[in-house]
Amino acid sequence: MIIVMHPDASSEEIAKVVARLQALGADVQVSTDSGRTVVKGTTESRLNEEGPWAMLPGVDRVVPEVVGGRRVGRQHKPEDSVVEVGAVKIGDGSFTVVAGPCAVESRDQLMSIASAVKDAGAHMLRGDAFKPRTSPYSFQGMGKAGLELLSEAQQAFGLPVVAEVLDPRDVDLVASHVDMLRVGTRNMSNHALLREVGRSGRPVQLKRGRASTIEEWIDAAEYVVNEGNRHVVMVERGVRGFDDSARNTLDITAVPVVKTLTHLPVMVDPSHASGRKDLVAPLALAAVAVGADGILIDVHDHPERALVDGPQALRPSEFEILMSQMIAVKAAIRS
Ligand code: PEP
Ligand code: MN
Repeated sequence: MIIVMHPDASSEEIAKVVARLQALGADVQVSTDSGRTVVKGTTESRLNEEGPWAMLPGVDRVVPEVVGGRRVGRQHKPEDSVVEVGAVKIGDGSFTVVAGPCAVESRDQLMSIASAVKDAGAHMLRGDAFKPRTSPYSFQGMGKAGLELLSEAQQAFGLPVVAEVLDPRDVDLVASHVDMLRVGTRNMSNHALLREVGRSGRPVQLKRGRASTIEEWIDAAEYVVNEGNRHVVMVERGVRGFDDSARNTLDITAVPVVKTLTHLPVMVDPSHASGRKDLVAPLALAAVAVGADGILIDVHDHPERALVDGPQALRPSEFEILMSQMIAVKAAIRS
């Protein structure tokens, strides 16, 4: 058990925690390496009750110790985790297709795209109401009105919906309108947001930071899971490399690596990885072949008019063709 003390915990409070652990026969280590006093007590099961320890004066948080490393690690749980979003199961051996616009722009736009992706066989709908834009002058998303449209589309088409949440203060709002939350690449290391989506209990897609190692990405997932939320899906969306022919470099290697190191499902976003619609289909097929559990695809009925990411969006007819190709590759892998 790891007990993290408040930054202003007194030395008496720390001493009391240590003494109490020692009285139970624990082997106690005290460290201040992280800038805070952290008390680690190792013994058998009787320390594993978190509640009483969290209530001691000066204690900030209690992190039960994990046997075999991280909670998301394979050692901790050898079998694959399946994340359920409504009736959709991600990671059960099937291939989950999430499609829709990058951003919700209007009712007509969202309903028309939702209807098209459903007809083409998508399992879930994407569409964001809060957009993380590089320039503060670019369209930032429709906010609450966009979330309401997402709820409406979910009801109308029966597709579970995923949307990005940017700010810890918006987690409850977004979670009350959609079925799954997404943490985007820019926020992968926003630990306050990770904790908050962890507390929401909603399934979470966790995108890889665009300059993050796989280990850093897995640690980010651990933040969510440590709040008691096991429903995390990892999304590889490309990292910044030295080559600029595509927006990012899709790290296809990350898929089997993360699936070996963790028990979490892994999806791929070829749209944001490439930023180019001509690259979406080949990368999507590679994702199926490499063993990803699903995919996120940007689809727009009028890409030339899209307020965000038009150049990477497939038209519904192009998405339909890609769907049949992905099904064929999945069948070939299975056989
Ligand atoms: C998105 O999926 O719309 C998005 C903003 O992606 P990323 O965080 O990967 O850039
Ligand atoms: Mn986008």
